[in-house]
Amino acid sequence: MSVERVKVLIIGSGPAGYTAAVYAARAGLEPVLYQGSQPGGQLTITNDVENYPGYPDGIIGPQMMIDFQKQAERFGTSIRSGIVTSVDFSGSPHKVTIDGKTEIEAETIIISTGASAKWLGLESEQRLNGKGVSACAVCDGFFFRNQDVVVVGAGDAAAEEASYLSKIVNKVYMLVRRNKMRASDIMQQRVKNVPNIEILWNTETKEVLGDEEVNGVKVVNNITGEERVLDVKGFFVAIGHKPNTEIFKGWLDMDEQGYVKTTPGTSHTNISGVFATGDAQDKVYRQAVTAAGTGCMGALDAEKWIAEKEVELKTAAQEV
Ligand code: NDP
Repeated sequence: MSVERVKVLIIGSGPAGYTAAVYAARAGLEPVLYQGSQPGGQLTITNDVENYPGYPDGIIGPQMMIDFQKQAERFGTSIRSGIVTSVDFSGSPHKVTIDGKTEIEAETIIISTGASAKWLGLESEQRLNGKGVSACAVCDGFFFRNQDVVVVGAGDAAAEEASYLSKIVNKVYMLVRRNKMRASDIMQQRVKNVPNIEILWNTETKEVLGDEEVNGVKVVNNITGEERVLDVKGFFVAIGHKPNTEIFKGWLDMDEQGYVKTTPGTSHTNISGVFATGDAQDKVYRQAVTAAGTGCMGALDAEKWIAEKEVELKTAAQEV
C-alpha cells in the first residue's frame, strides 16, 4: 500500500471542505482534499440558492460548488476523488485509508463529510429507488414531466422540492404527517399558493406501488385511518438528513444521532489534531454559509495546531 504524508487532510467537498481548503492552502499548508461519494456535496442536488451572501440574484447549487472548487484549486489544494474506507486515530500522525488502497498519514484532519438524505425505511421505497423513488427533485424531476408525483415531508427541503417539481410536473401531492408544517413561513406560503400542489395533512405513506417502476402510492390518514391510492409516477422523499460520520465511530465523540461533538466555539474534537466542520457536526443551522464558516474555523484551528506542534518540537530539540 502506498503511503503519503500530508500536513492537512480534508475529507469532504461541500462548502465546509472547500472553505477549509481555501484557508489552509492560503496558509501554505498544501492541503489534500478527498471529495467523497458526492463531489460538491448536497448543494449539487439543490436548485436555486438565494440565501448565500454575495449572490444578489441567487445562484444554482451545482455552479456554486464548481466556484468553491475553483477557488480551492487556485491556491494549490490537491483535490482528489476517493472515499475514506477506514481511519486510525490512535496516534500521531493520524492514518486514513482511501478506497482501501492508499494510506495517508496526516498531521491534522478536517472532517467535512456532511450529511445524507434520510429515507422512510419502507421495503417498497428501497426496491423502487431510482425507478421512480428519489430524494432529489432537481436530479430526477425531469423524468416526471406532465405526470403526477408525491413529495413526502414538511420542512423547507420538502417545500423547496414541491415548488420546484410543480413547475415541471402536472400535480404534486405533498404528504404532511402532522396538521402543520415545519417549513419557514415564506416557504409554506410558496407551496400553499401554487395551484398544482395539494397538501394532504395528517397523511403518511403505507406503500409505494409498482413492480418495475412506481405506479401509485398507498397513503393513510393517521387521524381517520382512511386509506387511498394516489395515482402517481414519482415519489420524492424530503424528510431530513443524517450525518456521514459512520466511519469515525469508535474514535470521535458523537451525539445519539451521530453528529460529531466539538468543543463549543471551536472545531476541536476529542482527538487532538482532528477537527470537525459543516453538517457532520451541525444539526441546528445546516446552511451552506454556516458550513463554510465552520470550514474556515477548521483550517484556522489546524493551522494553529501545526504551529504549536512545531514550537513544541523546536523547544524539545533545544533541550536535548
Ligand atoms: P427538517 O428536519 O427541517 O424537516 C424534516 C421534515 O420531514 C419534517 O417536516 C418532518 O415532519 C418530516 N418527516 C421526518 N420523518 C418523517 C417520516 N418518517 N414521515 C413523514 N415525514 C417525516 O429537514 P429539511 O431537510 O427540510 O431541512 C433541514 C434544514 O435545512 C432546516 O434547517 C431547513 O431550514 C434548511 N433548509 C433550508 C432551505 C432554504 O432555506 N432554501 C432549503 C432546504 C433546507 P415533522 O415536522 O412532523 O417532524
